[in-house]
Amino acid sequence: VIASLHAELAASHDALQAAHDDLAERARRDGLTGLLNRDGFFAAFTKLVPGKGAGVLLIVDADHFKAINDRFGHPAGDAALRAIAEVIREVTGDTALAGRIGGEEFAIFLEGLDLARAASLAEAIRLRVAKLDLISEQGDPLPLSVSVGGACHDGTGTAASLMSEADRQLYRAKHQGRDRVAFGEPAAA
Ligand code: GH3
Ligand code: MG
Ligand code: MG
Repeated sequence: VIASLHAELAASHDALQAAHDDLAERARRDGLTGLLNRDGFFAAFTKLVPGKGAGVLLIVDADHFKAINDRFGHPAGDAALRAIAEVIREVTGDTALAGRIGGEEFAIFLEGLDLARAASLAEAIRLRVAKLDLISEQGDPLPLSVSVGGACHDGTGTAASLMSEADRQLYRAKHQGRDRVAFGEPAAA
């Protein structure tokens, strides 16, 4: 009797643990896109940076997204955000650290990648979003594009300094006309 009670207790403990894990996982996810949410992203990101491992941080921000909502409606905007997230997943892979850190803003940390490879992924994301060709309920094409700011982690910077550098690059990409990728200006010779 005691053995079977013990087995029952173990089984319910396992079920509780599974439910707990499931809940914890859902708390880290963004309901709209399935990517990490802001807290989930930063929790994982700050475990990697600062740290010895190199990598590249990308911030991807949808261009003129307020106008997309205004013209086509919030549900169309939501569909566009899901489509952008899908592009990010397809280009960077399921294991990349990617999250929606703001309304129409995504962050991706590409662990172990160098600048050249990260820049080509960023460019692939930009191109694929520009080619999405989403159509509104009225049959009009949504003019979607993203701007991307990138910053390299060489193992010395902090999470905050990497974020603010990527943000600064994003601002440059926006300022230069949007629908483009910006990385650090090459060091002066
Ligand atoms: P910029 O090119 O400079 O980034 O312009 P922007 O219009 O994208 O930037 P702004 O920050 O002015 O507006 C962001 C808009 O994104 C405002 C808000 O309506 C929209 N947005 C934020 N979160 C969501 C969301 O979850 N769903 C939808 N549909 N829209 C959202
Ligand atoms: Mg925007
Ligand atoms: Mg934004």
